Order: sequence, then structure tokens, then C-alpha cells
Amino acid sequence: MDCIFCKISRHQLKSEIIHENDKMVVFKDINPKAATHLLVVPKKHIISLSAVKGGDWKVVLEMMRTAEKIVKKLGLAGHKVVFNVGREGGQLVDHIHLHLLSGSKVELP
Ligand code: 5GP
Ligand code: ZN
Repeated sequence: MDCIFCKISRHQLKSEIIHENDKMVVFKDINPKAATHLLVVPKKHIISLSAVKGGDWKVVLEMMRTAEKIVKKLGLAGHKVVFNVGREGGQLVDHIHLHLLSGSKVELP
């Protein structure tokens, strides 16, 4: 499948991974909108928040739990989490991801 986030999660495309397990990968956004701008990405290819069904809601919960773990690990004093959903919602990569932003000049991605 020609999906950049699937490729990153399979290490077929280079990225700065800061956390990884069998279900999730967290890496630095290539075009950061804040001092810290990470993407929390499940390894399962789900197109967007609007495409989540049934048991996949567990994946969404795990994304949020992972984001909070990373916040604590990095000692961030405050942060913003954002899902862009669909083109009109600013989503450009059709593989669900949670933006985790913190620090100076936080702009919405
Ligand atoms: P979206 O607009 O879909 O919510 O966010 C996609 C994000 O992925 C953007 O903030 C963009 O900078 C980031 N991005 C796109 N391609 C790559 C890539 O190849 N590597 C990394 N690390 N980030 C990417
Ligand atoms: Zn994918």
C-alpha cells in the first residue's frame, strides 16, 4: 500500500522515531508547527477518525494514552492534541494520526 505512515511504521521510510511498540509509532513531524510537534500513529492502517468502527475505537484510546505517556516522559508543561479529519479538516495524510504539539508558537497543524 502506498501510504507514507505505513511505510514509516514499517521502517521503509526514514523518520525520527521517539517511541515504538507493536501497535504504535511516535515520530517527529517533518514540518513542525511548535517546538515539539510529534505524530502519534497506529501501525494499523485506518483512514481517519471518521472511518473508525467497532473494535478500532480501542486503537483511538491507545493513541491518546500513548500521547499522554510521551508528554510525561518528555516532561512537557502543557500541550495540544489535534485530529485533522478529511480534506476540509486539514487532513493530508489518509492514515489516522494524532498531532501532539507543545512549546513556543504552537499553531494548529
Ligand atoms: P495532516 O495534515 O494530514 O493532519 O498531517 C500530516 C502531517 O504529516 C503534516 O504535519 C506533515 O508535516 C507530516 N508529514 C508529511 N509527510 C511526512 C513525512 O514523510 N515524515 C514526517 N515525519 N512527517 C510527515
Ligand atoms: Zn497507512
